[in-house]
This record gives sequence, structure tokens and C-alpha cells, in this order.
Amino acid sequence: MGEPHRPHLVVLTGAGISAESGIQTFRASDGLWADHPIEEVATPEAWRRDPERVLRFYDQRRDQVRRARPNAAHKALAALEKRGFRVSIITQNIDDLHERAGSRNVLHLHGEILKARSTVDPRMHYPLPRGGIAVGDLCDKGSQLRPDVVWFGEAVPHFADACEIVGEADLLLVVGTSLAVMPAASLLDQAPFDAPCVLVDPEAHVLAPPGVTRLNQFAGKGVPALVRHWQREGRLWVPETLLD
Ligand code: NAD
Repeated sequence: MGEPHRPHLVVLTGAGISAESGIQTFRASDGLWADHPIEEVATPEAWRRDPERVLRFYDQRRDQVRRARPNAAHKALAALEKRGFRVSIITQNIDDLHERAGSRNVLHLHGEILKARSTVDPRMHYPLPRGGIAVGDLCDKGSQLRPDVVWFGEAVPHFADACEIVGEADLLLVVGTSLAVMPAASLLDQAPFDAPCVLVDPEAHVLAPPGVTRLNQFAGKGVPALVRHWQREGRLWVPETLLD
């Protein structure tokens, strides 16, 4: 006899789930990204032109991540997993807040800021030397180390894995993403046709593609509310009472 089917929640998260932890979203008009145009800090061209500047920018972002703590949304998802649900998290975030909340099944589509990698071989990962990266820190093949972050214009290495995971969802929960960055946004198309999709975002009314249920709430309120329903009933469903 096989194992009984455990409801499989697949969660696609973006910068908005970490906003209440104090990490600015990408599109926020204040903060780190506002002072640093993408093309000067988060592209392969920027890296070739001025690696020192790119490294300094990621040092600042790393400090912000280290100071941040997981919020109620990260914690609720980890609690659901502890209760025996199968929870797979696919995040566009480069912070480690899902892991620190206790989630064990996290795929980072755009890399992890707390790791370094080789510039010549993206499979060669390293812990951060001295907590950061400096020009002159080399990989085992003698090339400069860089942040383990996928820059704009680069391929997304784990995209095929992410498609496979979404294809096995019983419910797809999308939290705090503007769905503006490809190919991440196209993951919604990979869900099985009978799997409901719920979007939690204060701007959900603007963002939701057809067929997606919108919950116009901050992640720290909307995600724990959904999780409470699912824990109570032992199944994944879309509670109409939460919707406005
Ligand atoms: P985005 O900035 O484009 O969109 C953020 C979304 O979050 C918006 O739709 C906004 O309405 C919503 N939001 C804001 N506060 C929220 C809250 N409290 N609860 C729920 N939703 C909230 O971010 P994105 O879609 O993730 O894509 C931008 C890119 O920037 C990604 O590639 C991502 O890797 C990167 N990024 C990552 C981090 C991080 O690691 N924490 C932070 C900023 C940007």
C-alpha cells in the first residue's frame, strides 16, 4: 500500500512576503533599490563594468537580510508543514527568511544572497568568505567569486524544477509578487487545471490573472488566515469568507 495522499500546497513568493520583515520590495519607491538603478547593480554588464560597486550593494542588502526576522506569513507556512501538509515553496527572494521560519522545502529561483558562487561555473557554490565578498576572492578554478544571485538578463537555473513542482500542486498560493519578472510569473501556467490558485497581495486586484482568486491583504494577515482554515479542516480549499 502506498502512502496516503498528503495535500500539496505550492507557494510562489516574492519580495512582498518579506516586506513586513523590513526588507524593501523591489518596486518600493524608497530605500535601497531606489538609489541603485538595476542596470548599475544587478546585471552582468554592471558586474563587468564595476564589480566593487556591485559587491558593495550586495553587502548592504546582506546586512538588511541579517537584521530581518521571519514574519507571521513565513511562520504560518512553516507551521502548516509541521502539521503534516506537503508544502513546497518556490521563492523569488534571495533572503533566507523561509528557512529561518522552519520551512524545509524551499527552492530559490533567483539565488541566495548569503552564498557566493564562481563567476565561471554557476554550480560551484561557497560560503561567504569573512561574511562578504571582496575583489580578489577566488573560486577553485581561479575566477572571482560573486554573489549567488541571478541578475536581470541571466538564465534562471532551477526553472525546470520549479515547473515540475507547480505541476504537482493541489493548490497554488502566490504571495507578494508583482508577477512582472519572467520567467517566474509564467509558473502560474504550469499548475494543474483543477488546482485553485490564490493570490495574497494588497494590490491583488491589479495583478491577478483570470481564474485566480484574489485576497487583497498584507501577507502577515492573509497567509496566517488561510493557513488557520487549512489546519482546521485538514484540506486545501479557498474559503469564500476571507474574500472581499
Ligand atoms: P516586486 O517588488 O516586483 O513586487 C512586490 C509585490 O509585493 C507587489 O505586488 C506589492 O503589492 C506586494 N507587497 C508589498 N507589501 C506586501 C505585503 N506586506 N504583503 C504582501 N504583498 C506585498 O517583487 P517581485 O515580484 O518579487 O519581483 C522583483 C524581483 O526583485 C525578484 O526577482 C526578487 O528576486 C527581487 N527582490 C527580492 C527581495 C528579497 O529577497 N526579499 C527583495 C526585493 C527584490
